[in-house]
Amino acid sequence: MAQTAVWRPAPDLVPGRATRFFFLASLQAVLPAVLQAVLFAALLAPFSSHAFTLSDGNEVQCQFSRDDTSATATERWVDYKTPSERDPELGKAVAVVRFDPQDRPTILIDAVAYKQSKGVMAAMWDFIFFHECAHAKDKRLSEIGANCAAYIEMQDRGLMNAIRFKDIEAAHLRIMNLPEQYGGNGMEFWRMTLDCVERERGRPDPGSAMYNAQSAR
Ligand SMILES: [Zn+2]
Repeated sequence: MAQTAVWRPAPDLVPGRATRFFFLASLQAVLPAVLQAVLFAALLAPFSSHAFTLSDGNEVQCQFSRDDTSATATERWVDYKTPSERDPELGKAVAVVRFDPQDRPTILIDAVAYKQSKGVMAAMWDFIFFHECAHAKDKRLSEIGANCAAYIEMQDRGLMNAIRFKDIEAAHLRIMNLPEQYGGNGMEFWRMTLDCVERERGRPDPGSAMYNAQSAR
């Protein structure tokens, strides 16, 4: 099969400094649909943008600050025809953050996984975006901390309710194995996330629980 143009990271992006949202089980569920879509899909040119459409229809941008200046994180939607053409930068994740040498973040999103699953996992995609955005805002944030920040952001935006909670929880609980920094598995990842949210909501000093979560495991 002919090679098709897929997005490649800009040379100035630093390899190995990714922060990933692991989402393995859900991605595996999506892949058969991806293979079907391959037969019909026209390859969209990879594109970058600065907005993400939330499940409530609102557009959101990921704002970050460096050295007292504020900017919007770049998004790159990674499209591909076959799984083998999927950008290896994504690894097994559906979204990752890369930082350039100036620490400016780019959020890479698996456009195929998004298109195939946003209908049934809309709340989870909101969560993933806010998770990656939390990393983009602060490189020091742990995986638990990024999840914690995503949860709180969704609550603050009125995006969390019982149904959405269950959907996001279920997406986590499907993940059997995760690296240590995610708590080792989806159940533990979710439990530590909820612990962090509880601590964070109970503290007068915003952000402290997120940072403490780095050493909580
Ligand atoms: Zn992460």
